[in-house]
Amino acid sequence: MLDDLRELYQEVILDHGKNPRNYGQPEEVSHQADGHNPLCGDRISVYLDIDESGVVRNAAFDGRGCAISQASASLMTEIVYGKTLEQIEHLFHQFHEMCTSDKGVALDDSFADELDRLQVLSGVRQYPVRVKCATLAWHTMNAALAGDQETTTE
Ligand code: ZN
Repeated sequence: MLDDLRELYQEVILDHGKNPRNYGQPEEVSHQADGHNPLCGDRISVYLDIDESGVVRNAAFDGRGCAISQASASLMTEIVYGKTLEQIEHLFHQFHEMCTSDKGVALDDSFADELDRLQVLSGVRQYPVRVKCATLAWHTMNAALAGDQETTTE
């Protein structure tokens, strides 16, 4: 089990887990929500600043949790920067497939770079409990966009 986990915690995950990008609440926030994953104890807040044309001007997060939840949130804030809400929805859908489907996902070429980066987290599909860690940040971002203050993976 430990060896499996070590394999799961690839270098990128460790790096983002240890040095999270865009950590902390920014001054300008248009949307925010708190997410909780009771199975693992992960708690994060996601902050977004979205301009009038629906483009992400800034994305940030803070909170505490396992390396996977932190790394996923950190990666997410980098990836959604400059994207439209439509593009974010599309990316989340593809990322979710990546984390849950064994059949392999038909990945969209137009987001090759982004999906390639997210791929490091797709190892969680072998550990259903970890899927919630990997997708918590995205669910929390969705809640923020929907105007919900809080969300839980339960
Ligand atoms: Zn976790």
